[in-house]
Amino acid sequence: MTEGLLVVISGFSGSGKSTITKRLLEEYENYALSVSATTRSPREGEAEGVDYFYKTEEEFLEMIDRDAFLEYAYYVDHAYGTPMAYVEEQLAGGKDVLLEIEIQGALKVKARRPETILIFVTPPNAAVLEERLTGRGTETKDVIYSRLHAAVEEAAGMEEYDYILINDDLDACVRELHNLIQTQHCRTAQRKAFIRQIQKELTEREETLL
Ligand code: 5GP
Repeated sequence: MTEGLLVVISGFSGSGKSTITKRLLEEYENYALSVSATTRSPREGEAEGVDYFYKTEEEFLEMIDRDAFLEYAYYVDHAYGTPMAYVEEQLAGGKDVLLEIEIQGALKVKARRPETILIFVTPPNAAVLEERLTGRGTETKDVIYSRLHAAVEEAAGMEEYDYILINDDLDACVRELHNLIQTQHCRTAQRKAFIRQIQKELTEREETLL
């Protein structure tokens, strides 16, 4: 079986990246979503093991000590990390594994596993982003300001990504993301085992005709 692909999905808060990832998992079979560990508290509606594994500072540090993370980073006031075991298990089982993480983590994963695909999800323009942040209706002006401020900083890192996915129409965006990932399976680097196999087969056939 060929190994799955590791795919990082980042994007501004309000870019729709979580919705897109969720839709991808619902609509297609070959994906697995990595659930991160974090030291932040659960928000309303979030569940242990579904949205995150909620850890104390001590537990998180203990995971760092035993090298349990593929990457980890500090974002705002909290630590976030990708547990390695699940990712490796799913990749080995041929699944394409999605990591929904921020840029520092994305770059660490790319440095460690250069074949990783980095995708940045963005709304078509800044007005749409502000509208989405405001539209949730649950956030204060201060929170909206701080999210927009974070977006300005995150936008500075967009060029580090392999692909920029513009989320204008949700259905189209989910399809585009799926096609983009599946196309990566055709990359020569992903087909090394296949290449060796067909080279071997051809040589064997050539020899039978000698
Ligand atoms: P939130 O607290 O809103 O759920 O997440 C804050 C930020 O942390 C988001 O950009 C999210 O993608 C990112 N994040 C979530 N899990 C991880 C992780 O395991 N590693 C890193 N580096 N970032 C993460």
